[in-house]
Amino acid sequence: MTLTLAAADGRPAPAEDLAHFPLAIRGLTVSYGEKPAVFSVDASFHPGAMTAIIGPNGAGKSTLLKAALGIVTPLSGQITCYGRPLARQRERIAYVPQRASVDWDFPTRVIDVVLMGLYRQLGLLGRVRQRHLDTARACLDRVGMAEFATRQIGQLSGGQQQRVFLARALAQGADLYLLDEPFAGVDAATEKAIIAVLKDLKAQGKTVVVVHHDLATVRDYFDRVFLINTTRIAEGTVAEAFTETNLQAAYGGRLATAQMGAAV
Ligand code: ADP
Ligand code: MG
Repeated sequence: MTLTLAAADGRPAPAEDLAHFPLAIRGLTVSYGEKPAVFSVDASFHPGAMTAIIGPNGAGKSTLLKAALGIVTPLSGQITCYGRPLARQRERIAYVPQRASVDWDFPTRVIDVVLMGLYRQLGLLGRVRQRHLDTARACLDRVGMAEFATRQIGQLSGGQQQRVFLARALAQGADLYLLDEPFAGVDAATEKAIIAVLKDLKAQGKTVVVVHHDLATVRDYFDRVFLINTTRIAEGTVAEAFTETNLQAAYGGRLATAQMGAAV
């Protein structure tokens, strides 16, 4: 069956088609200055799939995720989560930001970071009860960080911090998980632990979207890819869209031949 996303006469797609997708982006343009960081991008992230967002540095990958979360305001475009406006669906989306963007100067325990994932359940002034602590500990256990619950977050390695942020996302119990370069600068054990958790989420029918920089692991880890370099380059299954031609189009001369070896 083919999903028709736009009628032939150019009118917007019927709402029921957008409802199929945990995240659908139409005509998204985001600009911080004069030159757009993301230009006129359409993207459909499929339910129950693991999708890699791929493109060179500065291609607009992080901006795309931030716009999808309402963290940056687009110049134009439409973003829907399961066919509905983002504002009404926020609790269904969990986000693990790029590690470098979080600066833990103030003392916060690991368990408190994970409890932040529960704040919608807790309410603004809600008391943390035993069941919340149990949930938070179970999420830490899933990422192999249970023994660090009372450690200050600033006293963990980068890879350990990344696992804690993933535990916070798990605590939220979302349907859609957006992760920005979760494997950047982490040790091999952390990468294995994170990918196991993501595959487990997928097995539960959740949708996972990951900004990913390592072309060599795309085939192992992902079902689908979305290639971007300010504009959309390609979108599809790994077999369809993760091709040398598309990678050349996205990276141009910047793509190392060694990396491409894995793609062809
Ligand atoms: P990527 O994640 O693919 O490396 P980004 O989305 O971070 O790319 O950035 C896309 C472009 O937007 C880059 O040229 C970057 O310099 C610019 N940019 C990103 N964030 C900001 C910001 N807060 N202010 C101004 N320019 C930004
Ligand atoms: Mg980025």
